[in-house]
Amino acid sequence: MAEIKSNNNQLDDAQNAESQETKGFNFVEEIVYNDLKDGKNGGRLNTRFPPEPNGYLHIGHAKAICMDFGIAEKFGGTCNLRFDDTNPVKEDVEYVDSIREDIKWLGFDWGNREYYASDYFPQLFDLAVRLIKEGKAYVDDQTSEEIAAQKGTPTTPGTESPYRNRTPEENLDLFMRMNAGEFEEGSRVLRAKIDMSSSNMHFRDPIMYRIIKHPHHRTGTKWKVYPMYDFAHGQSDYFEGVTHSICTLEFVPHRPLYDYFVDELADESYRPRQIEFNRLNLTYTVMSKRKLLQLVKEGLVAGWDDPRMPTISGMRRRGFTPRSIRNFIDRIGYTKYEALNSVSLLEYAVREDLNSIATRVMAVINPVKVVITNYPEGKTETVEMENNPEQEGSGMHQMPFSREIYIEREDFMENPPKKFFRLAPGGEVRLKGAYIIKCEDVVKDADGNITEIHCTYDPETRSGLPGSQRKVKGTLHWVSAAHAVDATARLYDRLFNVENPAAEPDRDFREMLNPDSLKVVKGIKVEPFVAQNATPGTKFQFQRIGYFTPDLDSTPDNLIFNRTIALKDSWEKEQKK
Ligand code: ATP
Ligand code: MG
Repeated sequence: MAEIKSNNNQLDDAQNAESQETKGFNFVEEIVYNDLKDGKNGGRLNTRFPPEPNGYLHIGHAKAICMDFGIAEKFGGTCNLRFDDTNPVKEDVEYVDSIREDIKWLGFDWGNREYYASDYFPQLFDLAVRLIKEGKAYVDDQTSEEIAAQKGTPTTPGTESPYRNRTPEENLDLFMRMNAGEFEEGSRVLRAKIDMSSSNMHFRDPIMYRIIKHPHHRTGTKWKVYPMYDFAHGQSDYFEGVTHSICTLEFVPHRPLYDYFVDELADESYRPRQIEFNRLNLTYTVMSKRKLLQLVKEGLVAGWDDPRMPTISGMRRRGFTPRSIRNFIDRIGYTKYEALNSVSLLEYAVREDLNSIATRVMAVINPVKVVITNYPEGKTETVEMENNPEQEGSGMHQMPFSREIYIEREDFMENPPKKFFRLAPGGEVRLKGAYIIKCEDVVKDADGNITEIHCTYDPETRSGLPGSQRKVKGTLHWVSAAHAVDATARLYDRLFNVENPAAEPDRDFREMLNPDSLKVVKGIKVEPFVAQNATPGTKFQFQRIGYFTPDLDSTPDNLIFNRTIALKDSWEKEQKK
């Protein structure tokens, strides 16, 4: 009895040790870990990220990138960048370049492992020829509509093509002539001869090759036939030595076909395997490349890198950091079921990172002038401002103070409600980092609009002096009028005002665009330090307003700042109302 018990304990210990080792792994990491432990593929780990260069990368791709590159990093493997360039009609080098830039910006590196599916066109063609000779593929002269009509349904078998039983010789001759350009696009395809009554629809004689006469951005006019995804992908994985081909859940039903084609090449010593995880879907966002392209083409946004786009380049331009994107992706994790993630989580990650790195500065978006009547004319003082209280050693910068300053118009009310702690007639507020002021008078124009607020200041309350300890309820941001620099603010908000645009197939997605997704505000006032440091990539916190970064279009003579994100989630409040 004692013996058995101790054996059980040993077993428990072994299991505990194992679960200890894989603790915190997601399910894909667990699979990879076990494959490596079992010595599969000679103990190699090689993943790939396979974008089609037909658009810019978006945040969904970032999730795939973090998985493909991240898992290789974690387990000492490598990750290939493979451009899945099998459809010359939609692809372009502009996209290839942007994809490279975006992956690097996210912090990943493919070294010299940059590949193109088009590099494998000769090998894929040879394999197709072999399958034709072995009677496993045939040329079908029907149109794609006719072929689709014969597919059947998941519960009823499909119909065999009248061309299905052509001889290998005839098929080979036709396929060669397809590639020689003898036939029109759409007039013939090469199909795998598998099983028209398979319960898996993908096995019903899938199309392997189609005729495309549009020149390819890498291979020019060399090829007139192009392989379909299902025929190209697994084979490309195999040619490249990929061990784990990680993709999204919609490819689960394709996996048997992936394996079917890989079987034509692989042996026991090495074979790639496909693993699927859930796509990233975000609220208030569309992620379909087709729709994003439409937004760009129709001028509904300013380009692929418009800061409202869910593209990596748009997020970069808007001021998101790679770390915030990676933190967000870490938090949502990888599962085997589809879900919709709240964009608030991404925005939270952005605020969190910017809070720790952004330089605190003063900017007034909707300025109204304050004249401090008892402050000497022509005098300028310099006050010290903390760059970032969250970051030790981030230091201070200097900011001028003078008789005339700007504050936000919203920070003054002539007839304030009870709990208004900002400036009002007879009331006091602290100017952050400077003095306490008291409102004495208001100057208006003929229409009754406030043009100036007259105040007095208490010289004993300067920051650092004992009088500064005096309690007042409100603290305002401000800039010195004589020293402030004019700038433009682009206030970005969510691009769509419908929570899940993809769930409304009956509506045109363009109707769901948020009309207030961009507000351009000219004549904002920023402190001189901001103007001096307005280089691309700089992250500012405009205190009490939000996080801002200089736009790509910003120049020293025409400063433009993008609002990356407001300090607080204003949508949350909306939803709670
Ligand atoms: P399409 O194939 O319709 O052009 P796609 O978004 O799948 O669009 P690809 O360039 O084929 O574009 O994607 C490259 C990789 O990124 C694929 O492995 C794909 O699974 C992954 N991917 C694409 N969209 C998402 C998403 N929303 N979440 C996670 N991974 C994604
Ligand atoms: Mg795809």
